[in-house]
Amino acid sequence: MSIVSVAATPDYTDETVYAAVCRHFEALNVAEDLKPGMKILLKPNLLYGKKPEAGVTTNPAVVKAVIRWLTQRGFNNVVVAESSGGLFNAEYMRSVYSVSGYRVPGIAEYLNRDFTFGTRHTAEGFTVKSFNLITPILEADYIINLPKLKTHAMTTVSAGVKNLFGTIPGLQKPDMHRRYPELGSFVRMLCELCETVRPNVTLLDAVDSMEGNGPGGGTVRHTGVTLCSRDVYALDVAAVEFMGLSPMDAPHLRAAGEMGLLPETVTVTGDELIPCSPAFRLPDAVKSTGFEDAAPGFLRKPVEKVMDLLLRSYPHVDKSKCVGCGRCAESCPQKIIRVENKKASMPRKNCISCFCCQEMCPVHAISAKRGLKSL
Ligand code: SF4
Ligand code: SF4
Repeated sequence: MSIVSVAATPDYTDETVYAAVCRHFEALNVAEDLKPGMKILLKPNLLYGKKPEAGVTTNPAVVKAVIRWLTQRGFNNVVVAESSGGLFNAEYMRSVYSVSGYRVPGIAEYLNRDFTFGTRHTAEGFTVKSFNLITPILEADYIINLPKLKTHAMTTVSAGVKNLFGTIPGLQKPDMHRRYPELGSFVRMLCELCETVRPNVTLLDAVDSMEGNGPGGGTVRHTGVTLCSRDVYALDVAAVEFMGLSPMDAPHLRAAGEMGLLPETVTVTGDELIPCSPAFRLPDAVKSTGFEDAAPGFLRKPVEKVMDLLLRSYPHVDKSKCVGCGRCAESCPQKIIRVENKKASMPRKNCISCFCCQEMCPVHAISAKRGLKSL
């Protein structure tokens, strides 16, 4: 049985968020795990530098409240580390921290300044034999995962498990997309990564969440809650149900189920967790074509399979919005994006529909369009 602690968290004021963190950590007896001198790593979601109110990043109030909880109890060896989309170096991360509101007293002193990485081997039988991980993760004695609840153009949902993709250094992330281009292999890789990083506790920021074209270009939805669990899969199951979806709508939870990683039961404690109504709007890239819904029940699965074989979602650039920054080209695992005369263009040929380009576009110039699968 896995426990998920729920705390109504109506806003991001320091006292409100701190009270929620206290409730979660008490419910899960987190203090019992910690010893003086332990290296405690906090892993927020800093997809890229974005103001907290945009709903793209873990709100600094959550990070600050967790640091306050730890330091007030004498656990001062804390580091906040993330490898955003883009480069993993001091200059780039300084700008991400600044824009995202992390260079403030109570967080700034704890921000990671080590931009090296190392290798950790995985368990026997995994498809991925080893992962390159940022050094603070490799050196941590205790990991507190601090994701943001968002929809995701490739994986449908971004919560606890997906947040750990940011433990892979910088532009090695597109490389993982290239190595695992199909959704099924990619989400299995995410589960193997999660099993290799093994966060001790996951605390989800769903005070303001993101729906629609997440994880970077969706719309903010106030959902007023934080969730916390020692079991990251249980937390994701609860989070997906909270979004008004079924856990099986989330490909990484299907993969986790096949790998035997899902808990048999998930017990919610604390405040009531009422599924959102209406359910979260999904990204255009993962919406059904409508044919599946129109098919009678017994034909739905085969129709889904045929539609998947014939049609795929591809990125499409709105040239009137594109500012030619080149971030999409930098993050494209297939290196197929060209930026000429300050406008990006991307052919369908060799596109693996990972939507890293859409994720990283700062002006939301990239949308998803269905088209015949490029072979
Ligand atoms: S064009 Fe976009 S969706 Fe296609 S492979 Fe490159 S980053 Fe992925
Ligand atoms: S990231 Fe967006 S704005 Fe920048 S070049 Fe690509 S499409 Fe244009």
